[in-house]
Amino acid sequence: MFDKSTWIRLPRNVVVGHGVLDDAAAAVEELRLHGDPLVVTSPTPAKVAGDRVVEGFSDAGFDPRVVRIEEATFGAVEEVIEVAASDDVGYLVGVGGGKVIDVTKMAGEDVGKGFVSVPTAASHDGIVSGRASIPEGDTRHSVAAEPPLAVVADTEILADAPWELTTAGCADIISNFTAVRDWELAHRLKNVEYHEYAGALSRMTAEMLVENADSIRPELEESAWIVTKALVSSGVAMSIAGSSRPASGAEHLISHQLDRIAPEPALHGHQVGVASIMTEYLHSGPKGQWQDIRDALASIDAPTTAAELGIDEEIVIEALTTAHEIRDRYTILGDGMSEAAAREAANVTGVI
Ligand SMILES: [Zn+2]
Repeated sequence: MFDKSTWIRLPRNVVVGHGVLDDAAAAVEELRLHGDPLVVTSPTPAKVAGDRVVEGFSDAGFDPRVVRIEEATFGAVEEVIEVAASDDVGYLVGVGGGKVIDVTKMAGEDVGKGFVSVPTAASHDGIVSGRASIPEGDTRHSVAAEPPLAVVADTEILADAPWELTTAGCADIISNFTAVRDWELAHRLKNVEYHEYAGALSRMTAEMLVENADSIRPELEESAWIVTKALVSSGVAMSIAGSSRPASGAEHLISHQLDRIAPEPALHGHQVGVASIMTEYLHSGPKGQWQDIRDALASIDAPTTAAELGIDEEIVIEALTTAHEIRDRYTILGDGMSEAAAREAANVTGVI
């Protein structure tokens, strides 16, 4: 008997372009949501975008509430939930970087209200995905949340964000190559459900980004456009799969581990990029495509070594040997790398 059911949730309006911030209210009006918006932002994004979004909603006849958070903590999530639970609030609007968006989607999930994503940096695929992660002590809590109802990405603002945030977003996309490899492996070895379409979309997104690497340059607004489009397709791939598998494999486990043990972790995208050079080596051997991944990262100014990440080599080795313990997700790391193998992988790929 056919007993499969698929449940795909996607954003309904995705608006990307120069100056579209002023269309945020219009993009939301089209969704015919009930109630008023709760705009969640933090100090710097408020200046570059949040205040303008609030004004836009007021001008359109809404009565927006505003919560400004300082950091991505459970305290901040609670703070947002308190206001979001009010009957007048119909939906949430997160205006900021990955942290603000994560807090907004987590709070929205808790009160059962949708959220709109207005990223001010194209730094990782969380700006469009249904997953949120919040640090607590030395661990991170990753939870499933709904994908945004709409995404409003103003390329003028995104292009103005610090360049390394954009290269981190690119590197996060490039890591889709190894994430999909891990997913296929888990399917073959552990019968993890694999979605052909989501896998292909995720891989194609990474390929397109690499093909357009020449147009990814600081000061070039087109860069923001290319990266945002890629982050959106990557988010769609995750929505189709109903999991983060298309965009998160062993390289993400290694990065999460670096977040826990490195005294000063680097940007998420940069860490997963460097880690994916090594996991590609694990998949395809010394003559495999790890050099392509390294070259792609280098071509967009993203780090390719531990030194460029600003992370001690020994910490990288520790992350490689312990990353498999983080969560129950089968990857090329299997039941763990030996220290000698980790050193070999990091050495051959030039990461250390
Ligand atoms: Zn990522």
